[in-house]
Amino acid sequence: MVTCEECKAKCCRYIAIETDEPDCLDDWDQIKWLLMHEGVSVYLDNEGDWVVEVITNCKNLDENNKCKIYDTRPDLCQDHDVETCVMNGEGKVEKILFKTAEDVDKYLKKTGLDKTLPAESPDDE
Ligand code: SF4
Ligand code: SF4
Repeated sequence: MVTCEECKAKCCRYIAIETDEPDCLDDWDQIKWLLMHEGVSVYLDNEGDWVVEVITNCKNLDENNKCKIYDTRPDLCQDHDVETCVMNGEGKVEKILFKTAEDVDKYLKKTGLDKTLPAESPDDE
């Protein structure tokens, strides 16, 4: 198992935010825009959730990769389990991963969604 000392605090160097499943071309256009920014990726995980990930260091990380506010760190950090973290979990969490706007274009073309999806979400009407 990888220890926290060995991995240099990988879990403190990104944020991951769940987002709605894209159901129209407008949503995919927004995803393409997100992906035009450095450090951003979007993926569908193995549990069926859509996630926006941004590589960014937590401000509480010190130069030795330790948490400066360890005793008062957020619950989210306290609940984080080294045995199931990104370094030690069971393989890839991403079922489909988009790193660039081109990845999105290729996916939409390959799946035919570029022809079948509505321009705007039916929920917006
Ligand atoms: S919990 Fe996992 S990802 Fe986070 S510092 Fe420890 S080994 Fe690295
Ligand atoms: S608060 Fe501490 S444990 Fe939580 S992400 Fe930041 S450095 Fe890591």
